Amino acid sequence: MDFRLSEEQEMIRNMTRKFVDEVVASRAEEGEATGEYPYDIIKQMADLGMMGIPFPQEYGGSGGDWLGMHICIEEMSRGDTTLGGLLDVTTSVVAQELYVFGTEEQRQKWLIPMARGKTIGAFGLTEPGAGSDAGATKTTAVRDGGSWVINGTKQFITNIGLDNASLVIITARTKAQKPGEKEQINTFIVPKGTPGFSLGKKYDKMAWRHSATHECIFEDCRIPVSNFLGKEGRGFAQHLAVLETGRISVAAIAVGLMQACLEASLKYAKERVQFGQPIINFQAISFKLADMAMATELARNMYLKAAWLKDNRLPHTLEAAYAKLYASEMCEKAASDAYQIHGGYGFMNEYAVSRYYRHAKILQIVEGTSEVQRLVISRNLK
Ligand SMILES: Cc1cc2nc3c(=O)[nH]c(=O)nc-3n(C[C@H](O)[C@H](O)[C@H](O)COP(=O)(O)OP(=O)(O)OC[C@H]3O[C@@H](n4cnc5c(N)ncnc54)[C@H](O)[C@@H]3O)c2cc1C
Repeated sequence: MDFRLSEEQEMIRNMTRKFVDEVVASRAEEGEATGEYPYDIIKQMADLGMMGIPFPQEYGGSGGDWLGMHICIEEMSRGDTTLGGLLDVTTSVVAQELYVFGTEEQRQKWLIPMARGKTIGAFGLTEPGAGSDAGATKTTAVRDGGSWVINGTKQFITNIGLDNASLVIITARTKAQKPGEKEQINTFIVPKGTPGFSLGKKYDKMAWRHSATHECIFEDCRIPVSNFLGKEGRGFAQHLAVLETGRISVAAIAVGLMQACLEASLKYAKERVQFGQPIINFQAISFKLADMAMATELARNMYLKAAWLKDNRLPHTLEAAYAKLYASEMCEKAASDAYQIHGGYGFMNEYAVSRYYRHAKILQIVEGTSEVQRLVISRNLK
């Protein structure tokens, strides 16, 4: 067993770390305060090749692997978790779905610009009545000659509000095409700007305020049959397959945030003097730091293992769920302890730990809640 990173993975880590320290971290608070999308940062991420790390060069990527991709997501999230979230959705979920299940024509048309970071992708699974129970989708797609006609509403959709978002991949219910067939859930590529596809409200969120989260409304939205993605009747399974990678990505985001909590808390605990000495000298504080450092490293090892299994085409359903569940729960604790170590200053927006605390909670919800991860794990144990 070799735990060392490859030369390329080291290079990705160093490049992303430098970019975060020089550009990203100092802008995160401003984004949160204004809600403005940092288009200039997104462009620089594209120029650095971040969106296409795991895809072959012929499809606009850099021919790297999922381990390298997740190291990049961790490092970006140390500076700003919303940008880790952007990479999760556009690369781990949407671009991967196009790469694995798309036709050659779909890859050429949609994947290549996305892997190059020229366009950004969104996926639409969640609906008002279909959250954890994503199979309860009510959105419908009806075949009409050379088109599919889509009706329904998707909610909480990340990235679609960005100016350079090109499409949303949605799940929709389709009627039986032949006698004896059952209703199916299939996936469709809906380009932004298609008549009948509009964005509803931009959500007012407690954090991730400069991540573009919107409602998507489809009213007699007509797309060509060539926008059908993957195999008939396999749409839901396809989506769940790429969401497995999304879970590794959320774990990497959580680890990036935990690392940020640790660095801020260590610095503060060494500087803050009470009772005549730095508070790090108090065991109550240093034990919190010890637990935080240990949980960060364990969660990191878990997401790296899940990504390694994926790169080696080995099953990783359980490992992705372990990584997502453990990292997101430990991240919430780390953010709470970081806040506690900062005392009253932790409540002040001028201290980054206040943002870390607000950002940590969402990681237990997206890409399957903690309860859903426990369901996945317990079902696999059975
Ligand atoms: C900021 C943000 C961004 C998002 N981005 C996207 C996106 O890009 N695309 C997309 O499709 N979705 C997106 N989502 C939706 C997200 O995936 C869902 O919010 C999540 O899956 C949970 O669904 P829900 O909110 O409807 O909660 P519900 O499913 O209603 O769950 C409510 C509670 O009940 C629990 N629960 C539900 N079922 C069970 C069960 N069987 N056993 C035990 N407990 C259960 C849940 O764990 C939770 O605690 C986003 C959400 C947010 C907040």
